[in-house]
Amino acid sequence: MLRDPRPDTSRTTERPLSGLRFDNRYVRELPADAESGLRRRQVSGALFSRIEPTPVRAPRLLAHSPEVATLLGLTPDDIASPDFASVFGGNQLIEGMQPYAANYGGHQFGHWAGQLGDGRAISLGEVVNAAGERWELQLKGAGPTPYSRTADGRAVLRSSIREFLCSEAMHHLGVPTTRALSLVGTGEDVVRDMFYDGRARPEPGAVVCRVAPSFLRFGHFELPASRGDLAVLNRLIDFTIRRDFADIAAQGEVADEGLRARWFAEVCERTARMIAHWMRVGFVHGVMNTDNMSILGLTIDYGPYGWIDNFDADWTPNTTDAEGRRYRYGHQPQIAHWNLTRLANALLPVFSSEAPLVEGLERYAAAYDAAEREHVAAKLGLLACGDRDLDLEYELYGLMQESETDMTVFFRSLSDVNPAAPGLAPLAHAFYDPALRDRQAPRFEAWLARYGARVREDGSDPVVRRRGMNAANPRYVLRNYLAQQAIEQAEAGDTGEIERLLGIMRRPYDDQPGNERYAGLRPDWARQKAGCSMLSCSS
Ligand code: AMP
Ligand code: MG
Repeated sequence: MLRDPRPDTSRTTERPLSGLRFDNRYVRELPADAESGLRRRQVSGALFSRIEPTPVRAPRLLAHSPEVATLLGLTPDDIASPDFASVFGGNQLIEGMQPYAANYGGHQFGHWAGQLGDGRAISLGEVVNAAGERWELQLKGAGPTPYSRTADGRAVLRSSIREFLCSEAMHHLGVPTTRALSLVGTGEDVVRDMFYDGRARPEPGAVVCRVAPSFLRFGHFELPASRGDLAVLNRLIDFTIRRDFADIAAQGEVADEGLRARWFAEVCERTARMIAHWMRVGFVHGVMNTDNMSILGLTIDYGPYGWIDNFDADWTPNTTDAEGRRYRYGHQPQIAHWNLTRLANALLPVFSSEAPLVEGLERYAAAYDAAEREHVAAKLGLLACGDRDLDLEYELYGLMQESETDMTVFFRSLSDVNPAAPGLAPLAHAFYDPALRDRQAPRFEAWLARYGARVREDGSDPVVRRRGMNAANPRYVLRNYLAQQAIEQAEAGDTGEIERLLGIMRRPYDDQPGNERYAGLRPDWARQKAGCSMLSCSS
């Protein structure tokens, strides 16, 4: 164990965090950029550039996820050691790490944007844990790379807290997502123009260590395809199937077109399941560009995301998207399909016809429909969701939209409605405007009457039904204002609220006596406040 806390000069030390075992297939099996160094450049014929994190002044561990630490085989002693903040702040590499920035492109807001790449993310390597699982470690905000273009490669504390907390909250909600190991304050300021109004100001900087089996994005495949580089595209597809889709790889030869078609269909299905979960819990990603779409169907790149408070299918948290609302809540299923179509187009040159890709896209629609029905049945407490039940759900959404109804509180409280005598009373606290609620009450009562009758048709066991509903309708979600409160306290030097939220979001489906205040409606002061209602991309 290393004891010397001096900023390292050697870069590689005598084995701190020795429980981490690396096996870096990405850099071993894929083509590397021949040039080294930071010069911003177009990188062709390669899927990554070797680059080290830029050390920071005073790395300090602000928060960590004990579950992710355990997953990786890290001990409480590892976390308490000064090496931990140093390594995950980007100041020190340990044996086995081979850092790199990935090269990928993407469609941003509907338009091809060319090469993007990891402009501020640096992967450290792939850990294989005791269970044989592969987990890639990636620092976000670790300094410039060849892909940083005109930006600084850093991240502010506020957006880092949001990414750290939300990726863990999503995991515990059962939504496929990248994870977060650590949040390290850098002791350095980062200058950002948060409101894009020309008033840039210094803010504290931070580095998050993200963890996922793979950080491959749709844009990884789009970039070589856009350049007609079929050699790189073929290598990447084979690599992805072999490393990240072992079940499919085991079915035959990875270069086989049938196998590749099965892989694409699997990507479509996973994406569908992820989006259906977002819709279930009221999550709006905010920037569903194809460079922010994971090939594993994981929620990735937490930027100006948000949670639905009052139900509004047209809501987007992203100020940059306020005009067109491309990435609004209700549009996410269609956008995912559009993004998959971009991926299909990128793959087309290595298929002999488009039929298998079209089939894959159809699988998206079928998988989304199936997942949505499963969630609707669970949310409403029905044994199964038929067509008329979907209509019932959509009618409810329409009513909620017109009535300033809190999505999370309403659905959670729905299990308190007695199907034998349905009424609005158990749901009365789910509304932001009591006068509006009272005006809309007859329409809700009519809906509830039909709902109660539908539940009675099933004749299901009330205890089992209630348990099922409460496992699909969270009590706690990371409401925008809650994260904002943790941010403001952390910026003032107190990380206690980060810890507290992490703890609460660990059990989102449980009633947690004493934590009721975290389950309530968004307070009025937060309605229009920056960070609580809308967010800019500045991060
Ligand atoms: P995002 O919208 O956050 O997914 O970012 C889009 C692209 O911009 C990616 O290539 C990022 O790596 C890059 N990027 C965003 N912020 C920064 C930054 N501060 N420094 C360098 N690159 C950045
Ligand atoms: Mg991104």
